[in-house]
Amino acid sequence: MIPYGRQDISQQDINAVTNVLKSDFLTQGPKVPLFEQAVMDVCGAKYAAAVNSATSALHVACLALDLKPGDWLWTTPNTFVASANCGLYCGAKVDFVDIDPKTYNLCPQKLAEKLEIAKKEGRLPKIVVPVHLSGQSCDMEAIFKLSKEYGFKIIEDASHGIGGNYKGEPIGNCQYSDITVFSFHPVKIVTSAEGGMAVTNDPNLAERLELFRSHGVTRNKYLMTKPADGPWYYEQIELGYNYRMTDLQAALGVSQMQRLDCFVAERHHIAQCYDRLLKDLPITLPWQHPDNYSAFHLYVIRLQLDKIAKTHLEVFEALREADILVNLHYIPVHTHPYYQKMGFEMGDFPESEQYYKEAISLPMFPTLTEEQQDWVFETLREIIL
Ligand SMILES: *Cc1c(COP(=O)(O)O)cnc(C)c1O
Repeated sequence: MIPYGRQDISQQDINAVTNVLKSDFLTQGPKVPLFEQAVMDVCGAKYAAAVNSATSALHVACLALDLKPGDWLWTTPNTFVASANCGLYCGAKVDFVDIDPKTYNLCPQKLAEKLEIAKKEGRLPKIVVPVHLSGQSCDMEAIFKLSKEYGFKIIEDASHGIGGNYKGEPIGNCQYSDITVFSFHPVKIVTSAEGGMAVTNDPNLAERLELFRSHGVTRNKYLMTKPADGPWYYEQIELGYNYRMTDLQAALGVSQMQRLDCFVAERHHIAQCYDRLLKDLPITLPWQHPDNYSAFHLYVIRLQLDKIAKTHLEVFEALREADILVNLHYIPVHTHPYYQKMGFEMGDFPESEQYYKEAISLPMFPTLTEEQQDWVFETLREIIL
């Protein structure tokens, strides 16, 4: 059986976690700030708040940016539901911008057109969430320019993106955004089992991220409204959550971060092998924009169905029957029943819907062997030729 993604855990990772188990702090100890520092060192942002998932990171990011009922959050349909749900958690309304047919990322031209209409109708978004699909950055410069023109904030969903570059700079440096969010789920680039992080260069946002991840409670006397009653004193000044990451998770994260460059290099090697093996098959390979160095979380192919005698479903099922556990990233968010009930319809975002009819994520993880890749290629060739 070959999964589409899986973690790579070393003896050093195991030791890091067991050492925490023997230490004084299982949570709220020293490992969380160490993990935050390790991520800041790589991505170049000035502040970081580790949380228990990227979903939580997206939520606290929206809260930090003061997303409120009546506001709009826009994202891409071609993402995991969490990128959109964070808006709903805040009572905001959600809308989508269709993808670019080459990169499968949120299309800046379509964003510009939609903004122009929204401006006339008085429903401009407060937040836009570009998602770096597979770890290839969106066209952040273009989206950033539009944010200045139309006055929205940007949260980069870089759940796939740690270790990737955009225009020679690391994804997550927040040069073109207010906040960037990472996921450390086991299928992602580095893992802390469950885990996420929000990074920013803005000290006020950093303070708010920290508040919302832990009950809205502060011990910072500059944020308190009253003088302290005593040394035990703290104040709740916002309605926050318990989204904290444990020290067990953070220790695993710190240890994994030491191999980030290797993980991404191995993913590139695997992508190059696939490119070579698959180049003559009637499929579209993942196109890489020259501005980008992808983290290659996913290797997504698109079937050229007019040249294949099988359906998308048949190809997918035949691969699964051969124990190649391919996957599909993503079901367009607006087509889920929950979003359909909100009024979205099939046909609203045709590029994302077309992509969904053709896309397959092949196995992609650092320990995938050449033999396994050959097996994927041979099996796929037999199915579609
Ligand atoms: C995985 C993922 C998330 C959610 O991450 P969790 O850490 O599992 O909450 C959000 N957005 C995208 C694009 C993802 O791939």
